[in-house]
Amino acid sequence: MENKHSQEQQNNDQVSKFKSFTDRFKKKTPEEQANDMLSDISAHDSQSANEHLSQDTKTHQKDIRRENRYKPKSHTAEKNYNEHTPKTHYDNQKPFEKRRWQGKNPQTTHQNKVHSDESKNGIREVKDINEKDNLGLHKDLKRGVEANTRIQRQSLNPHNKLNLNTKASVRITPLGGLGEIGGNITIIETPDSAIVIDVGMSFPNEDMHGVDILVPDFSYLFAIKDKIAGVVITHAHEDHIGAVPYLFKLLQFPIYGTPLPLGMIGSKFDEHGLKKYRSFFKIVEKRKPIKIGAFEVEWINITHSVIDASALAIRTDAGVIIHTGDFKIDHTPIDNLPTDLHRLAHYGEEGVMLLLSDSTNSHRSGTTPSEASVGPTFEALFKQAQGRVIMSTFSSNIHRVYQAIHYGLKYNRKVAVIGRSMEKNLEIARELGYIDLPQNIFIEAHEVEKYPDEEVLIVTTGSQGETMSALYRMATDEHRHIKIKPSDMIIISAKAIPGNEGSVSAVLNYLMKAGANIAYQDFSEIHVSGHAAQEEQKLMLRLIKPKFFLPVHGEYNHIAKHKQTAIACGVLEKNIYLMEDGDQIEVNPNYLKKVRSVKNGKTFIDNQINRQIENDVVLDRQALAHDGIVIISARISKERKILETKISSYGLVADKEDKGFEKEMNETLEFLVKNFKTEGFNAKNLENEVHNVFKRHIFKKVKKYPTIVPMIYVL
Ligand SMILES: [Zn+2]
Ligand SMILES: [Zn+2]
Repeated sequence: MENKHSQEQQNNDQVSKFKSFTDRFKKKTPEEQANDMLSDISAHDSQSANEHLSQDTKTHQKDIRRENRYKPKSHTAEKNYNEHTPKTHYDNQKPFEKRRWQGKNPQTTHQNKVHSDESKNGIREVKDINEKDNLGLHKDLKRGVEANTRIQRQSLNPHNKLNLNTKASVRITPLGGLGEIGGNITIIETPDSAIVIDVGMSFPNEDMHGVDILVPDFSYLFAIKDKIAGVVITHAHEDHIGAVPYLFKLLQFPIYGTPLPLGMIGSKFDEHGLKKYRSFFKIVEKRKPIKIGAFEVEWINITHSVIDASALAIRTDAGVIIHTGDFKIDHTPIDNLPTDLHRLAHYGEEGVMLLLSDSTNSHRSGTTPSEASVGPTFEALFKQAQGRVIMSTFSSNIHRVYQAIHYGLKYNRKVAVIGRSMEKNLEIARELGYIDLPQNIFIEAHEVEKYPDEEVLIVTTGSQGETMSALYRMATDEHRHIKIKPSDMIIISAKAIPGNEGSVSAVLNYLMKAGANIAYQDFSEIHVSGHAAQEEQKLMLRLIKPKFFLPVHGEYNHIAKHKQTAIACGVLEKNIYLMEDGDQIEVNPNYLKKVRSVKNGKTFIDNQINRQIENDVVLDRQALAHDGIVIISARISKERKILETKISSYGLVADKEDKGFEKEMNETLEFLVKNFKTEGFNAKNLENEVHNVFKRHIFKKVKKYPTIVPMIYVL
């Protein structure tokens, strides 16, 4: 008993002594930490690289001090811990081998040589086994802790394996996709070569009247067209491929992508009469780097809300760039092809100069649920459905459609796919073999009535409340074949994209008025996002461990939040830049800086004719919508007699006030004509004067600047 007790006592002593060792180790000041890093680097890198490293690391050190990144999280907690920790005689001594942390000369490798002598093939022997109070063991364990920490930290060092001697640099220019969600297009270029990553479209604001879509301003591509080696596509979403046909009407380049995005672009080319340009398609294979101009590009499988999505690894003379594309990290995707974490880790281990990563869900904590998590929700809804099931989602989300069809079949339903884009996307996915569904399960919209309600599943577009969509037309009783019934179960498997809340709400109103059962946001996993939440963004940052970071795919608040996440994951604040469209960023392993801005903006497209609408047309429409129009026509004799006038206004005063307004304007015109100077009494000068006087007068009266159209004839 006595013996056992003293044995325990001895063990406890040993633990507390060891604690005080490790505790002191943890409590190193930021300066000591930085010195530690210096000696780490000097030990592991070549002499020449060190010259650059030490320079850069000094800045690094300053940064560490400024940000106080290594400061213990809670001082109180630490203090309490110390108070309750028995003091050992070691505390009165000089810190153990303190000299080693001073590391004044970063070039020295002496100390580390001593270490390497102690470890053979990663194994460290215990020396001085007989020293009093296990001091020898403590020394050896502590050296082991130090060695392990050094190895870990070295592996996280962003300078790790970058070629700091290179003079090569690369420029990154987003022409769209920042300050907005949509319209993604980014140029990566060297002095004599360039690639364009994605050519996406975006949606107009409500005040862009008659504009259906926005495509990026391609002026900069014209400026550098001779060095563009190709267009590189990450995935098949409209905000990444939607503007490709509009680019190809102006400029053509080889276009590289995996099969689904190219299949979708091919079908766009059909619609736009660009079939011949399919000869520019280059179908790539994942995990096989290919040479495009001065770059070597590898497509890496990534999970997202569309199948066959990719991240890109772009090898340049300056270093490796990873562009995540749009991603989430889904470990149980429907096709069982998860994000290729191994390739991402491979590049992270090799050393990555720059990461560009998806910021869409930067504000969302935790992890985005797997696409597979929608399945059980669908199953529960299909189980309780009495009549038809109508499922609406984004037409590009093939796996969502596939899951709905899967449960439709399970509950003995035939499937009607209604909506042009959904029919087209499903057809491409089936033709290319991404999904396998027999033809005999499908029925046409006009056949739906032939089947009992409980044997029908309708899969359709319109989850964003688009007024042209099939769901909207069903809801408003305008669809030729389908009318909503009170027994229908309607599943909206989507979330309103910011800006679409109003139209989604409108379609919900119609559906509910028709008496249908609606399953929308009241089920948590009726829809899951395709974009990474914070924990997935962190995993990406930790796998890639880039030196420089450019958060992309988001408005300012999204990329700013992503920046905070990156700092928490070890990227230095000074190595992160928040870009705007048109910013040109130059990057080399030693620096990242904005060098200039290039022309950027949006071109307005009318979808009905697939043609551009000039800016002035849209501006005119805005002016007309905001302030109305006044048309003043008058015939005036040379003797200044007003022979005939007609004054009309639209969108300015109410019909019942028209007469009064016209009278007042006539008086203004009479006064103006009477007092017009003798010289230059002609139609042109009068029209100018009418424009100016009426503008002032009307503003005084109704605080509006309507479009004024004077038509004066002097006879
Ligand atoms: Zn996107
Ligand atoms: Zn996407």
